[in-house]
Amino acid sequence: MGMSKIRFPETKNFINGKFELIGEHLMDVFSPLNGKIISTVPLSGRYELEKAVEAASIAFTSWSTTTIKERVQIFFKYRDLLQQHREELAEIVHIENGKMIGEAIAEVDKSIELTEFACSLPQLISGEIMEVSRGVECREERVPLGVVASISPFNFPNMVPNWTIPNAIALGNCMIFKPSEHVPLSVKRLAELLKEAGLPDGVFNVVNGAQEIVEAICDHPKIEAISFVGSTKVAKIVYKRATSSLKRCVALGGAKNHLLVLPDANMKMSASDIAASMSGCAGQRCMAASAMVGVGEIDHIVDQLCEEVRKIIPGDNLGSVISKEAKDRIERYITEAEKLGAKILVDGRNVTVKGKEGGYYVGPTVIDFVKPEMAIAKEEVFGPVLSIMRTDTLDEAIAIENSSNYGNAAAVFTQSGGLARYVMEKANAGMVGVNIGVPVPREPFSFGGWNESKFGVGDITGKTSIDFWTKIKKTTTKWNAEAKTNWMS
Ligand code: NAD
Repeated sequence: MGMSKIRFPETKNFINGKFELIGEHLMDVFSPLNGKIISTVPLSGRYELEKAVEAASIAFTSWSTTTIKERVQIFFKYRDLLQQHREELAEIVHIENGKMIGEAIAEVDKSIELTEFACSLPQLISGEIMEVSRGVECREERVPLGVVASISPFNFPNMVPNWTIPNAIALGNCMIFKPSEHVPLSVKRLAELLKEAGLPDGVFNVVNGAQEIVEAICDHPKIEAISFVGSTKVAKIVYKRATSSLKRCVALGGAKNHLLVLPDANMKMSASDIAASMSGCAGQRCMAASAMVGVGEIDHIVDQLCEEVRKIIPGDNLGSVISKEAKDRIERYITEAEKLGAKILVDGRNVTVKGKEGGYYVGPTVIDFVKPEMAIAKEEVFGPVLSIMRTDTLDEAIAIENSSNYGNAAAVFTQSGGLARYVMEKANAGMVGVNIGVPVPREPFSFGGWNESKFGVGDITGKTSIDFWTKIKKTTTKWNAEAKTNWMS
């Protein structure tokens, strides 16, 4: 295929304010909507990283000595640019990731909210000062770390990058960004908008690629901190490799989110919330409902849920999954569960969308009478599939939730405040919902799971991210010659 047929010209790295292509290894980028090639992406390695780190290190000298009030001015402009280009940015997400336009718009809106939080940082990070003994003062202030890196997954090409870009940079760091090689186009556009907003060259750099560039980032001695978002398998590799080369690291992994449904739950609200949670972004959200545990007599809710799920039509109000491999993997899980005796209530296998026959679509799928020991009940499926397990008691349901290796989100649907409170206390997950299928904390609250859904201290967004992207300088001063001296000062 000639370059002219490619919708987005070849994606390049962005180093020191310029797009450039050095490496010869290019990978094709496909749109999951129709399976067609839309761009190419360089698979960079140590050489490209070295150039990016050099640019970022030089930029850090001046960027770190501007005040935070000056730095956030750029993010006020960036926020307005995200708003102005909202539809265009959503269109890019839609094409490269396959989610519906409405979902892509919601993603861009979330990026705007994340940037607004960064704009408020001057109000949150002032230091402290205290006279600790007569004439002697201690003062604490936050300083940036230096060159930092951020690595993102395919499922939120616009929002996840904005989990880290505005906060890390507003706090004075210079960044090397590594987007998912499956969706490199959104971050390319963000680089252009950051430049247009006035960000100096070298403060934000993009290196594209896959495993090799990630390993180079983990090993690079001049990179101080790495944030990672992706699967648990890779999060573990990155966390171990980054910390063994003595870096700060927070690495978010995969998920298996449980929804506990009690018989007294509001039937209509629960059914529509659960349907939206399991199918939104084609089930490719780390906060998606994947396992539902029904306690006691909940057939009426399951019936209503299936009615809601049948209204979800691939290509109409359900996007595609990311690749042919993902579609095959999801369908394999369904078939295996069926073979083991689970009952398929709504079957999303073997769907095609008219006019988009090359697209990777899986229809919404509901499977009942799944057993906790089945693979589909334990592993991350990452598709629009809900497995329903049944228990007699709430404690059995909680035990199933608690036994998961993951711990991103958990939710309970009930009208009883006491039972909701009990689940809030017992759930073994970082983000808990009551009558909410996708309990994503909004700014200034922070986002992050527990167990194998996150490695490292603190969360990736909100208030706790301030600790991650800064270090604290403690200064003790004495200007008064008559000040009392003791063994400490
Ligand atoms: P992934 O782990 O395959 O890829 C994530 C990043 O790691 C990409 O940039 C990729 O290039 C890189 N990578 C892939 N294999 C690597 C290797 N062997 N060594 C080094 N780097 C490697 O994840 P994905 O498929 O892009 O994204 C989906 C996963 O991300 C799901 O598991 C989902 O739950 C998770 N996710 C988690 C959160 C969260 O907040 N916990 C948010 C979004 C996505």
